[in-house]
Amino acid sequence: MNNARKFHARLVKVGLDADPLFLRRLFGLCCRECAAAGDSTIASHARDVFELIPSPDTFNYNGIIKSHSHYPSSASQALSFFSRMISNGVRPDHYTFPSVLKVCARAHLGYELHALILKIGFCDFVYVCNALVNVYGCCGYVESALKLFDEMPDKDLVSWSTIISCFVNNGFWTEALQCFQQMQLVENLKPDEVTMLSVVVAISSLGSLELGKWVEGYIRRNGFKLSVPLGTALIDMYSRCGSVDESIKVFDEMSQRNIATWTALINGLAVHGRGKEALKVFYEMKKTGLRPDHVMLRAVLVGCSHSGLVDDGWKVWNSIRDDYNMEPMLEHYGCMVDLLGRAGSLHEALDFVSKMPVRPNAVIWRILLGACVTHNRLDLAEKVKGRIQELDPDHEGDYVLLSNAYGGLGQWNEKANVRTLMRDKRISKDPGYSVLIVDQEFHKFVSGDDSHPLSKEIKEFLVSIIDSVRADGYSLGTTNVFHDIEEEEKENSISLHSEKLAVAFWLLSFRNRKTMRIMKNLRICHDCHCFMKHVSCKFGVEIIIRDRNRFHHFKEGACSCKDYW
Ligand code: ZN
Ligand code: ZN
Repeated sequence: MNNARKFHARLVKVGLDADPLFLRRLFGLCCRECAAAGDSTIASHARDVFELIPSPDTFNYNGIIKSHSHYPSSASQALSFFSRMISNGVRPDHYTFPSVLKVCARAHLGYELHALILKIGFCDFVYVCNALVNVYGCCGYVESALKLFDEMPDKDLVSWSTIISCFVNNGFWTEALQCFQQMQLVENLKPDEVTMLSVVVAISSLGSLELGKWVEGYIRRNGFKLSVPLGTALIDMYSRCGSVDESIKVFDEMSQRNIATWTALINGLAVHGRGKEALKVFYEMKKTGLRPDHVMLRAVLVGCSHSGLVDDGWKVWNSIRDDYNMEPMLEHYGCMVDLLGRAGSLHEALDFVSKMPVRPNAVIWRILLGACVTHNRLDLAEKVKGRIQELDPDHEGDYVLLSNAYGGLGQWNEKANVRTLMRDKRISKDPGYSVLIVDQEFHKFVSGDDSHPLSKEIKEFLVSIIDSVRADGYSLGTTNVFHDIEEEEKENSISLHSEKLAVAFWLLSFRNRKTMRIMKNLRICHDCHCFMKHVSCKFGVEIIIRDRNRFHHFKEGACSCKDYW
């Protein structure tokens, strides 16, 4: 029994359980235990005691609301206590709002409350405003958050951190960085770890290695400790910016690491096609006595599948149940299907799926579909497509994948059928684009698009590059174009895929450099992949492409994915 219940029992025993003074004291004890324990049964005791208090005041209401703001499950109760407070004429004070706002942020309510806060006149309190900015951010009302932030007469560190994280969480990464720059112009205001974590996440999402190096330098110059969260975020950031070697450096330097730290490194190695190293790190971690969780096991399996390590993959798979006593989750099944499928063991993969104890979802079938297409087994692909059809009939990628596969094999009638089906269902596809990052500047290229100011020069130059790598054995692949998503019917459209345009622009403008970095929204197609290998060899450059699934490092005519992707 906790202290509050013991105290309550004693009050009952001595007959003081209706005495207002003791009741308030008991209630205070309940509230403190609520805050400390994170156990919702204590909140229910607090509620019982609250109901015994004859006419609760602001202080009591604050206590009961706060007690219910700790748990997502009791959010609605917190709000109903708040509205009871208002309707009973008990005036809220500046301690009331932060708890209520916290609840609102979780429950995605914002405007109603803001109106009320304005009416009662609490908008001058900086922490009330900070909490409200946070509510807007959580609800996705970025404009309202920014408006309120701009109107705040006083802003403290929390205000700035809150607006920056609001930008980051809603995908406005450049805006987050601009805001961080503005913040540095404010006198006597230094960012803390919370601010820096948001900045690092923004840069990870932008994928800019230059910015990544800049933020690491900033962190070091300003005397931040390489804490577990900050170090882990940097490891993840470097891998997303295409340089897992920098991730390793940060990892080696950290004096403390937790499971997320190890996972960040393993995941980085895995998506960069360094599966053997990922496994090595995994076994090293096991020696430290840490126990892998689901997220880490997934990263290890991804490493195996991206590097074609089938035997190692099975070993890890078996260890999930045998060594760690865990039940594999749907995503682990997905990794195994991917592993078998990539390696060409399609029947084994199909068998694996049919024996799954949990019902395979469309994602699992889709992985298998991709593998069937890659390995030219369109008979199996049709079967698999049928299963997806039952689960998720209107996914554009499946249609494009099949249509490209038929085109690749020259089965034009089948291809036309798929296209007609798509048109009938009004399924459209995302246009492919690539972003080239040079000196923190972003250059965007859209497949077959003429909007770039140098469009004409780029295309002409691209043609000359294609001619020159053709002499080395590259041929535009109108057949064997198996990967989703882009339309690849004619030689002309393949030659204008956005990543090829990006490469041509780079070679035209930055020829004196060694490494180019490109981010692409879709998966790279077979033809572009082959083109990149030739270009890396012919021009002696390193090309790093982050596609929707993984990283490709092209160097000296080969890719880090070893043509598994
Ligand atoms: Zn392509
Ligand atoms: Zn590759």
